[in-house]
Amino acid sequence: MNYYTLSIIGSPLGEFSYHSSKTISIGTRVTVEFNKNVKDSVVLSSCEKPTFDTNPILEVSDSIYSAKQMALAKFIATYYVCSLGDAFSVMMAFMHSYAEHGNEGLECGNETEESSSFHALHGNSYESKIELSLKQTEALEFLKEKKVGLLFGDTGSGKTEIYMKYFEQIISQGKRSIFLMPEISLTPQMGQRLEEHFGEAVVMWHSKLTPKQKRVALEKIHSGEAKIIAGPRSALFLPINDLGLIVVDEEHDDSYKSSSRPRYNARDIAIYMGKLYDVNVVLGSATPSLTSYVKFHHIRLKGGHFSSNKKFVYEPSIETLSPLIISSLEKTLQAKEQSIVFLPTRANFKYLICQDCGHTYECAFCSVGLSIHTKSRAMKCHYCNFTQAIPQICSECQSPKLTSARLGTAEAVKNISEELVNAKVEQFDRDVITTSAKLKKALKRFNDKETDILVGTQMLSKGHDYHGVTLAVVMGMDNMLNMGDYRAREKALSALIQVSGRSGRKQDALVLVQSFNEPFFSAYLEKYEEFLESEKEYREGLYPPYKKLCRILFAHKNGAKAQEEMRKMQDSLMAFSDIEVVGAGKCGIERVANKYRFEILLRSDKSTDLIKAINATKVSLAEIDMDPIEFS
Ligand SMILES: [Zn+2]
Ligand SMILES: [Zn+2]
Repeated sequence: MNYYTLSIIGSPLGEFSYHSSKTISIGTRVTVEFNKNVKDSVVLSSCEKPTFDTNPILEVSDSIYSAKQMALAKFIATYYVCSLGDAFSVMMAFMHSYAEHGNEGLECGNETEESSSFHALHGNSYESKIELSLKQTEALEFLKEKKVGLLFGDTGSGKTEIYMKYFEQIISQGKRSIFLMPEISLTPQMGQRLEEHFGEAVVMWHSKLTPKQKRVALEKIHSGEAKIIAGPRSALFLPINDLGLIVVDEEHDDSYKSSSRPRYNARDIAIYMGKLYDVNVVLGSATPSLTSYVKFHHIRLKGGHFSSNKKFVYEPSIETLSPLIISSLEKTLQAKEQSIVFLPTRANFKYLICQDCGHTYECAFCSVGLSIHTKSRAMKCHYCNFTQAIPQICSECQSPKLTSARLGTAEAVKNISEELVNAKVEQFDRDVITTSAKLKKALKRFNDKETDILVGTQMLSKGHDYHGVTLAVVMGMDNMLNMGDYRAREKALSALIQVSGRSGRKQDALVLVQSFNEPFFSAYLEKYEEFLESEKEYREGLYPPYKKLCRILFAHKNGAKAQEEMRKMQDSLMAFSDIEVVGAGKCGIERVANKYRFEILLRSDKSTDLIKAINATKVSLAEIDMDPIEFS
């Protein structure tokens, strides 16, 4: 009889022992009975006969995790303080017959054959299709020399061509590339471009694939026909041999961070995989995160093919469809041109702003915005739980007009339609655009000029080309700027750059920004690197990338129970001198899905110190969020 330790996929629990008469390879997926259910599990190691009775392994499957996937799962489990079962739950195993068996070198012969047939398939014309400029060539050479290189390139500066040229070179080496992008179903144009150039060698992987499409994609990945595997964060965890390159486009995008267990960040996993697989990693963005900018060497690509004149006008006003906005939309409509209206993704919180001078309120300890809790008539900091009463008059100008109004996309569409009865106005956000088919149709209507005004959230700025837009109205910027989040400035400025980059691609355009913070936005709009430099000073000693943060969540139907667990862990954490308990208390959103929520926020110089302290003090209710980006 053989004995094995297994990890149950998706279970937060540790390792278990089972037996089998068969000899099973490490990494093989098997099924076992666990808590009276049949569960998929992974064979971690063989072991001695345990002193207790074991259950049998029921079925041995045809799938196996490679040695590198096993190493990756271990890294995820350690760094994000979750179980191996949680880590494996996001990873897809190899089919036995295609597995690397720990010896990837053997497959090279095969791959060269395949890649030469790829060239034959595409003929000679294929190489010549991508012509890089001198600057682009320079950038590519730079990236090839770096283990992790940041391509800091403005919208329209030709980042995609550089990626594509790099993919070609990786293919010619008989290797394959992973191309990560945020929410692929929302960027059909990128997919089209890749497919037009690389044909069958591209596999687009995303959650909206039908089971049949998924099967076809996996077959191409397994057989080696797929040379470029493009998709959102899940594309990192496909069974890919002969990896040669990982590109993370829009590396600053929040959708790379998973909001459920394991709470990993795909950009950071990509960087780890670069080391594990000994391949280069390229991070690309027009507005890189401060973290990547500080950690990695970058090359700057300025300007773009689309550069046309853009005029920025600021209206110091709270978030409202002002007469200036309506008249600007009307003028554009009369000129038979198109507009986009941007509203930030609906934040969960309201903050207090003075209608007369635009003054807002910050936490005295954390330099982030305070959120309003109407019920308790207080303003609260979501980092340290600092609380103060809602003031009656503005502390700057003594105006009594303090407000917390917000405008939603649906409401904006309704109000614009009422003001401009002849305009065709469409809502463009997650509530309405629920499938990629709906997205394609909405974009087609807009590009065919059937729609005059597109009103939307962040989705507006995700890589779509709007040819005829001559007016971009950007609302809610102050709202983003005053969010209770240490990255508020980075997110607001980056959103404004990304949205304004969508207008005036072919003709001159007006960008109307509703904000009391013109000095901030106008200073950095064209100088994102200067912003990053100034942001370094603000973050130093307090926030990432200079400090590590970890948020621990406690949720339970019984609020007292959740609070008690939080207190217990907080008390034990106090014993660790190399970590700091920044705050502990109720979460910003106190109740979700009928569960009361509490949290602890930790800070430290090193993630290893955090991991050590958490492992030593973890209570069963605690859910760990390493490098959190959500503070609600
Ligand atoms: Zn005021
Ligand atoms: Zn605070």
